[in-house]
Amino acid sequence: MDIDVLIIGGGIAGLWTLDQLRRAGYRAVLVENRSLGYGQTITSQGIIHGGLKYSLRGVLTASANEIREMPTIWRECLSGQREPNLSTAIVRSHCCYLWQTDSLASQAGMWGASIQLRVKPESISASQRPELLQQSRGAVYRLNEQVVSPSSVLQCLKERNQDALLMCNQEQGIEFSRSFQGTINSVNIRYREEELHFIPGCVVMTAGVGNGQLNEAAGQKQPMQRRPLQMVLVRGNLPMFQGHCVDGAKTRMTITSEVTTTGDVVWQLGGQIAELGVSMSPEQLVQHAENELRAILPELKMDSLKFATYQVDRAEKQSRLGMRPDSPQVLMHKNLLTCWPTKLAFAPRAAEMIEQKISSELNLKPSLIPGNASLSWKDWPIPEVAKSPWELVENWHQSTEVPESSQPITPVDHAA
Ligand SMILES: Cc1cc2nc3c(=O)[nH]c(=O)nc-3n(C[C@H](O)[C@H](O)[C@H](O)COP(=O)(O)OP(=O)(O)OC[C@H]3O[C@@H](n4cnc5c(N)ncnc54)[C@H](O)[C@@H]3O)c2cc1C
Repeated sequence: MDIDVLIIGGGIAGLWTLDQLRRAGYRAVLVENRSLGYGQTITSQGIIHGGLKYSLRGVLTASANEIREMPTIWRECLSGQREPNLSTAIVRSHCCYLWQTDSLASQAGMWGASIQLRVKPESISASQRPELLQQSRGAVYRLNEQVVSPSSVLQCLKERNQDALLMCNQEQGIEFSRSFQGTINSVNIRYREEELHFIPGCVVMTAGVGNGQLNEAAGQKQPMQRRPLQMVLVRGNLPMFQGHCVDGAKTRMTITSEVTTTGDVVWQLGGQIAELGVSMSPEQLVQHAENELRAILPELKMDSLKFATYQVDRAEKQSRLGMRPDSPQVLMHKNLLTCWPTKLAFAPRAAEMIEQKISSELNLKPSLIPGNASLSWKDWPIPEVAKSPWELVENWHQSTEVPESSQPITPVDHAA
């Protein structure tokens, strides 16, 4: 079957790219080997960053510069004013709070670069503070960065593109056939015993941690890095709350809130705690998380809370010293493109970069009329959206009694 583009991997990068290419009239198909967003997107905290986090050292870093347009693009999509129309996705909050437990000197540096950002933090008065930050000693800021429910964004993109989504086997579900010069000529997709044969104009890999292995299977080697995290989940009697506790140039903790399928509020704790957590056992990390919550949110009632942790890797193009790249990365070899968006927030930019490379560098023109790129695969299974991490935890535990002083904490400074 002749198609223009075969996309492999249905996280935010693959789905957004699929939507964009189909709107431009490309015959595009996406293949997924587990569930949509499995890995990073479904675990993401859903913050549509506008760059403040990347300007904490007081200068507008390249990262902050690249990302500052993203909140506006997402806001327009989420309100249905721009394509893709994501108005059925859930916005958990239209803003995040920022507060500090650190010195005034670091506060001054922290806001230095924010002047050039599109989304600037606004200092708020005591009466405007959320209940949890009423007694906070330092200033509290409001930052108009939206927080989305990643699973609902995936669901929305799935529904818009049902007829172009295909499931394949987890192992050996995709087989490439290449020309002598290294161009991909055809791709076989296998699900159970069934097979589909595609002749794509180009292949786009958006498979997160899977990009490395897929490139090898296609006869390529693309240097990638994995940066591990151990995230903390908290449930119990919790309010909805989204915020960053900032300590100097670091995000000591990022708290986001979601609602489970049974209607309970669950918090995800990320930022530095999840990076330090990699060198701790789950029990040690739970204890550390509890101590950290007491220190940064003294008003939080802790008695009913239950904790869990899980591990996940961020996947990116390899960079110098293993740092987070500043922008989405799209690499091209012949008719194979490999993409790591670096951030959920960067998905629109990643899709735009891919379309640009396909149309300008590969000179591949859409074979369908824009807006009419419908394809149908009779009875071929469609991938489901991945389950959120809190839906998969079996054992929630009350904090353990390990004294924090005995914990082997090795500080690591990966810019998150
Ligand atoms: C804990 C955590 C919190 C984060 N929080 C934020 C945040 O608040 N804001 C933000 O902007 N960014 C955040 N990020 C970063 C963001 O989540 C990622 O940059 C982004 O989701 C990556 O999307 P992706 O589509 O490239 O990869 P993924 O979401 O990992 O998707 C890859 C897809 O490819 C599929 N796949 C893999 N191998 C194969 C194969 N062989 N064949 C077919 N399919 C395959 C997978 O099943 C999956 O569906 C966070 C990341 C993590 C880990």
